[in-house]
Amino acid sequence: MTHEDFPAGKVWLVGAGPGDPELLTRKAERLIRSATVVFHDALVGPGVLALIPPGVRRVHVGKRSGRHSKDQKTIDRLIVEAALQGDRVVRLKGGDPSIFGRSTEELDACHASGIEVAVCPGVTAASAAAAGLGMSLTLRGTARKLTFVTAHARAGEALDLDWQALADPEATLAIYMGKAAASELSVRLREAGLPASTPVALIENASLPSERHFYTRLDLLGLAVKTSLGNGPALVLVGKALARRTEPTSAEGHAKSVDCAGFAY
Ligand code: SAH
Repeated sequence: MTHEDFPAGKVWLVGAGPGDPELLTRKAERLIRSATVVFHDALVGPGVLALIPPGVRRVHVGKRSGRHSKDQKTIDRLIVEAALQGDRVVRLKGGDPSIFGRSTEELDACHASGIEVAVCPGVTAASAAAAGLGMSLTLRGTARKLTFVTAHARAGEALDLDWQALADPEATLAIYMGKAAASELSVRLREAGLPASTPVALIENASLPSERHFYTRLDLLGLAVKTSLGNGPALVLVGKALARRTEPTSAEGHAKSVDCAGFAY
């Protein structure tokens, strides 16, 4: 299947969404089906990878914290080389390529080599997490602002975040890569003025059959991450809008959800 927007030698950075293949855009699916090579992250769901036609070369270039299998420069080079050889290249990235996805490096690398490149957006983890909790990330009069922030620090470096700006009681924080820094997030956000009782949710494996939710409060965030989460990717949501989630809690018999430390809000 060919299409005029995907000639040989072109690169598409494609958002794979949070895991559930039904959350792919129709465009993403078409691009995946017409690629001659697919470079994909560790976080791309198995159901999405299953859409890659048999015989199409697939290259795992996954990066998970602490286990960098290929560094960014190598990935940039591999993509460029494939395009120069005349492949139709799909670079499949978890969620949306423009959100903590290092897409700028790959766009720059393509442009520097004169390669045609374009981006197909995807459903980001925060959107999938909110859907799973049956809530809105923004809430009229309560959460007027939505902040996407990563709590991933470079190895050996402290988190360098504007805590004052983050500790806005009228915002929802969607914290990506927040597991390792959970205790620090809890302390620093409270120091900057967020109440200890601010609702927090941890959403692991959003949109996948293994999706799990844990509810806690800001002062218990570090403990909750240590005691509840498994190895899957997890998003941390913080803010008053969480109090308006509609998903029932575990006490009401919902298999996906757990209240940490017996706390409910
Ligand atoms: N571009 C991606 C984010 C990449 S950063 C997006 O738009 O979603 C990787 C982080 O995203 C993970 O550490 C985790 O915090 C979050 N994440 C990705 N997929 C997730 C999922 N299915 N469930 C929960 N969090 C997820």
